[in-house]
Amino acid sequence: MGSSSSSMDHIPDAQQLMQETGFSAAHLLRLHERFEVLDKDQRGELRPHDFGAVPELALNPIRDRIIGAFFSPGQETVNFASFVRTLAHFRPSDTNRTRDGAQPDPANSSTRKLKFAFRLYDQDRDGKISRAELLEVLREMLGMQVTEEQETEEQVTEEQLQSIAERAIQEADLDLDDAISFDEFRKSLEKVNIDHKMSIRFLK
Ligand code: CA
Ligand code: CA
Repeated sequence: MGSSSSSMDHIPDAQQLMQETGFSAAHLLRLHERFEVLDKDQRGELRPHDFGAVPELALNPIRDRIIGAFFSPGQETVNFASFVRTLAHFRPSDTNRTRDGAQPDPANSSTRKLKFAFRLYDQDRDGKISRAELLEVLREMLGMQVTEEQETEEQVTEEQLQSIAERAIQEADLDLDDAISFDEFRKSLEKVNIDHKMSIRFLK
């Protein structure tokens, strides 16, 4: 414990962050090292372009959205504590942690993970995924393939994108307001193992 607790001194609010996020001291140290590497000018905060150096995100077609999720609306920088709080959503769920009713849902609970994923779509943060917002994500996700396969006939046409979005809305939209609320989003993903999908191995 001795050596790690001394380096933990560099991390502001380390104990509180561990309690809040469920990360261990070793995780936190590792994340702090990574943060410092990304923080090239050593100001203790990251800007969106600093995330360009994260290899796990390099090929992700929706990387700009994921990076955006680290920043609160109107904020251009993120400090270490917020960085860790966002990453906590990607931590695999604990199976043996006893839940205390008074504790808020941990960031890696299925609900918090779903909310995080929902916000990646709901860019205007009005609590609903509109047809246009859904289309935008599909375009980004499939856009990468479109450029790679430009010359083939496999290209996803705008028309096909529209019909994929249309079908997704029709299937999820239970109250027929032509948009997907969080509850509708959750219900439509009930069969998907969100914990598995969102456990990005950022710590490796
Ligand atoms: Ca919206
Ligand atoms: Ca709806």
